[in-house]
Parts: sequence; structure tokens; C-alpha cells
Amino acid sequence: MAKIRASCDACGDVELGTADVRVQICTGDRDATYAFRCPLCEVLVVKPAADRTIDLLVAAGVESATWSLPAELDEPRGSGEAISHDDLLDFHEFLADDDLLAASLDSLLGA
Ligand SMILES: [Zn+2]
Repeated sequence: MAKIRASCDACGDVELGTADVRVQICTGDRDATYAFRCPLCEVLVVKPAADRTIDLLVAAGVESATWSLPAELDEPRGSGEAISHDDLLDFHEFLADDDLLAASLDSLLGA
């Protein structure tokens, strides 16, 4: 099994096996990262990686996975104003008022 040398921000260089590292590639913008749990401090380390690094890791046997940006990012944005802190507080108070919440849900259901 190939040994992979990577760097933990806290511990410095560490040596890993291919099963200890995972590659993640975004299908939308092709950004890629590799991740591993540091064998010394056990912190999860995630680092951006260039295509060449990813190719070398995958060729060495590191498992790779792809992920996609959420489709909502492609949806047109609304024309309304951004939600403010006051809007969030109002919504919190609305959720805390059981009677008001029940009445609103009833109106949505046509009851
Ligand atoms: Zn560490």
C-alpha cells in the first residue's frame, strides 16, 4: 500500500495509508479537496488540492467521491429585500406563539 505524506496544521507532516485519505471533487466548478483524520491529534484535516495532486492520490488508490453544488444556486434570485435580523426575530416570535402558528397553518390548509 502506498504511503502518503500530508501535513496537519497542528502536528506537521504525517504519514498515511491510501485508506486514510479521501478525495472530494465538486462536479460544478471542479474544485477538489482531500481529507484525512490526523493520526496524531485525530483532528479532521481538509485541504484544497490541485488537479495534479488529485490525480496522484487517485492513482495511488485513494477513494474519490464527487459532489454537486445545490441546484438552488442556479435559480433566479427574488426581487425582494434581503432578510434582516429583525425579520429573524419576528419569525422566532411567530414560531413561539402556538395560537398564531396554528391559525396560520389552518389558513394554509384551508380549514
Ligand atoms: Zn494533527
